[in-house]
Amino acid sequence: MLILLLMPLLCASACALTQEEVAAGAARLYRERVSEIANRYALDSDAAFLVRVDRIAKPLIARAATDYPHTAGWAWEIHTSADVDENAFCMAGGKLLVGQQFVSSQRLDDAELAMLLAHEMQHAIQQHNLKEYEEAMRIEPAWRQKPFAELEYAVDNDEALMRKLDDFNSAQELEADSEGLKLAWRTGWPPMRLAGYFRKLSRNSAKPNFDSRSHPAPARRWLAAKELAERLEKAGLVRQ
Ligand SMILES: [Zn+2]
Repeated sequence: MLILLLMPLLCASACALTQEEVAAGAARLYRERVSEIANRYALDSDAAFLVRVDRIAKPLIARAATDYPHTAGWAWEIHTSADVDENAFCMAGGKLLVGQQFVSSQRLDDAELAMLLAHEMQHAIQQHNLKEYEEAMRIEPAWRQKPFAELEYAVDNDEALMRKLDDFNSAQELEADSEGLKLAWRTGWPPMRLAGYFRKLSRNSAKPNFDSRSHPAPARRWLAAKELAERLEKAGLVRQ
């Protein structure tokens, strides 16, 4: 009985984590990040690029609302950054940021940009943040008793913990690749053009066959995307 009474107290920490808490934390981090970029006049500084990202993202978001009903009520946000070291990300709850320099340096056409956006969106749709926190608590149970904010910080800053999560994160990247490609295909993009995004990443990489800390090797991602695109092409117009 005593244990039952104590449970709610103990679980006021990270162990009782919900997607709503993760999304609230992500919304706060996103606001901080966006205002920091805005203060340097690097936010949405190219109106035409923002319009382009918006035009490609909106149908993906609409399709996601149908395919993944838990996303239907999300307050999606889309911003662009002029920072040279900004790639792209989508935080929990649908908070997108796209680096303009990355898109132009890779010379992404619209289909390839759709693939990039769909990949990032899938991190949020598949609740990868929540799953990463749960994995961190599984491999280091002490995190269960600590405040969520500490765990939220640690997964991006604690080297020892991050190292233990490398393989888990790499698997999430492959899932975002395949599920993102399928989402963009169901939205209407030709699958092989979507896969072309990974061919470009591989060709533009100095080490296409090497896994990085957080991502599988670009050549491996391209091969997997190409195989998936071939399967989807065979499936023809039957998008499900
Ligand atoms: Zn990713």
